Amino acid sequence: MFFKDVVGQKELIAHLLTEAKSGKVAHGQLFMGNEGYGTLALALAFSRYLLCERPTVQDGCGQCSSCLQVSELQHPDLHMVFPVIQAMSKTSDNLFPKWREMVLESPYFSLFDWTKFMDDKERTPIIGSEESKEIVRKISLKSFQGGYKVMIIFAADQLNAHASNKILKILEEPPLQTVFILLSSNPQAILTTIRSRTQSVQVTRLQAVEISRYLQKECKMEANIADGVASFADGDLCAALAVMKDGESTAVYRELFIKLMRSSYKKDVIQMMNWADEVSALTKERQKVFILYALHMLRQSLMLNYLGSDHVRLTAQEFDFTEKFSPYITGNNIRLFIEELDAAYYHIERNANTKILFTQMSFQSMRFIHRA
Ligand SMILES: [Zn+2]
Repeated sequence: MFFKDVVGQKELIAHLLTEAKSGKVAHGQLFMGNEGYGTLALALAFSRYLLCERPTVQDGCGQCSSCLQVSELQHPDLHMVFPVIQAMSKTSDNLFPKWREMVLESPYFSLFDWTKFMDDKERTPIIGSEESKEIVRKISLKSFQGGYKVMIIFAADQLNAHASNKILKILEEPPLQTVFILLSSNPQAILTTIRSRTQSVQVTRLQAVEISRYLQKECKMEANIADGVASFADGDLCAALAVMKDGESTAVYRELFIKLMRSSYKKDVIQMMNWADEVSALTKERQKVFILYALHMLRQSLMLNYLGSDHVRLTAQEFDFTEKFSPYITGNNIRLFIEELDAAYYHIERNANTKILFTQMSFQSMRFIHRA
């Protein structure tokens, strides 16, 4: 990964370059933002820059032995730690070949993507105390190439309390030229004592146009479909890729959306309750993608209603439904729907009881739809 390969984030890249060139690199950094905003891509490009023997003004050279090793994720001074399923392994090292395969394919993946890749059963991975011993051991080693030592911790919010406490001291007083880069989509879940020892770096949402361009170039997606997917990904490239890779799920989201709208239109409370059961059985990540999908469909309905079919970005099956449904989404209820879904997204991220949340959502939807 080079800076030039990072999607968007130009300002942040400029900031990281300035920091690297100044020679005063903060020894503990916390990249805050969803994986799909590019936290790992940025961390890798930044690591390359720090380790490169002949960096240019804007990127790693790509030719020195450090760069070649970083390209293969085999640089002795670049360490990576990531959550693992404790029943499979206590530390990252045993799963590194799998991790490497995933990262080399593309550093744009979510913790959930990594979990699925590692384990069919999708058990919850953590960073445990065995790992924290390894972190301390590795970072205490002398730098192989005499320069920086970099430790990237992916999904640092999965550090359990025990592991967090073990790395506090080394974070506070790290050996010379050591850089910790912690990545987190949920920094509130990181121990305050860890956060206070790191410099916060806010990684922001991508623009829809940046996501669309990536989908067209890397996934050979047609422009109008790429625009459609990008418009409901909410600045998160991983969300866009999840929808794209998972054709089946898109059908699931579409059916769920149609079911919600039909049952709330008919005021069919039994069906609404069944719907809430069905959605709350999905994983949290899929629930979030469903919300983004529903937002997209509601906006498209409004567009179809007011501006006509030239202005919408829908697949044929989506259009079939939306054509009949769109008169029920108007200026009288679109804001209510958006606020409801935004709030739901927020609460899902904070582990709300989703059965209650989706039941309430279906009742709200029933009220809103009859306000059109
Ligand atoms: Zn280089």
